[in-house]
Amino acid sequence: MTTADTPAGGCLLCGTQLLTPIAPDLRLACVSSDAFPLAQQAAFAVCPVCGMIQKVRDDAWNTAVAAIYANYKVYPLETVQTHLMFSNTGAAKPRSLILAEQLAQAVSLPQRGRLLDIGCGNGDFLHSFKQVRPEWEVCGFERSEASRAALEAHLPGVRFYSGSLDAIADRFDCLTLNYVIEHLFEPVAMLRQMQGLLSPGGGIFVQTTSFQRNPFDLVIMDHCAHFTPETVAQAGVRAGLRLTASSNGWLEKEIGWYAQPAETPLAAGPDPLAARAAQDCERMVRWLKKFPETVRQAAAGRPLGIFGTAIAGTWLAGVMPGEVAFFVDEDPQRQGQRHLGLPILAPQDTPTAAAVVLAFPAGIAAAIAARLEKNGFDFAKILPPAFEEPPLGGKKRWNARIKNTNEPRHENKH
Ligand SMILES: [Zn+2]
Repeated sequence: MTTADTPAGGCLLCGTQLLTPIAPDLRLACVSSDAFPLAQQAAFAVCPVCGMIQKVRDDAWNTAVAAIYANYKVYPLETVQTHLMFSNTGAAKPRSLILAEQLAQAVSLPQRGRLLDIGCGNGDFLHSFKQVRPEWEVCGFERSEASRAALEAHLPGVRFYSGSLDAIADRFDCLTLNYVIEHLFEPVAMLRQMQGLLSPGGGIFVQTTSFQRNPFDLVIMDHCAHFTPETVAQAGVRAGLRLTASSNGWLEKEIGWYAQPAETPLAAGPDPLAARAAQDCERMVRWLKKFPETVRQAAAGRPLGIFGTAIAGTWLAGVMPGEVAFFVDEDPQRQGQRHLGLPILAPQDTPTAAAVVLAFPAGIAAAIAARLEKNGFDFAKILPPAFEEPPLGGKKRWNARIKNTNEPRHENKH
């Protein structure tokens, strides 16, 4: 986890001072990215110049986010593979391993090289990358020294840097920035700094969330930036990079891209799809605000459980205080524990008289419901409000350079 910079004010991407509020009448209850409900609510804005969708960073937001970073809980090393993904067959695989496989395949990484993961945390991604490219030297960066001992114990031979990126004299064939850019107040400056650390021929891999495919991204308070394929590409262009591979299919509901230094700087024009992105944001906020009432009506007085203990489940429990009796989770590491003071049950231990809400984007919720049904779990399943997936105007172009050969996976942990 890399904490964000000091706020520079204005648009995160282009610095424009005056942002346009999105649905100013709507404020959204939030959780922290380490899954704790918060008292503060968030508002959203779109930049009239570059089209970046972002949180309104007022004093209340700054105070809330400073408190989140001061108390941040990283998943402990013992459960380093915590972020499991479940395919449609129910088989679990660490999210970081899927990412590492997709990266190596999409950009044809050579058998040898040196990789630096920025915001490496407990080394989850580096650990997975080593399985995919065992001969690569893997290195990690965090602003603080706090991760060093645990990381080095977990990954013998790992090189760890802390402090400032500018102080690093080594150069790298690949730099990775996974689930960090959405936290940054100056993403373009970060990408420029990263570019200075590349060996000739090297590239930068960025993975981030997509609120257009997963509205629960909006409820994460410390995600100040909510990227679209267009604005993430624009961040690269503004940093002097050119996109060489990109996909929103590497991990479902996320955006991934790989970029290399541009020989001649490209022009960063206004985002022609900004108005649609702002509409999508407003639509998603309204969808989220409708969720609790949908659940209440469908539960019809039955004991209520929430399927999933990560962001979406935590958020829903937070906006329905006193109405939830338990959580359900497929991850054996979580079963039998407690979350927000409530027990976490395995699907097979869930009372048949209960109603369980699947707190996921609609398509994923439907797939999970079908799988639970197939496995004979006959408790009532509450699906989210009807969900219209936004048309992806840029999808064809966006996926043009990458053939996504893996079957789509849905995410169970975010
Ligand atoms: Zn802007």
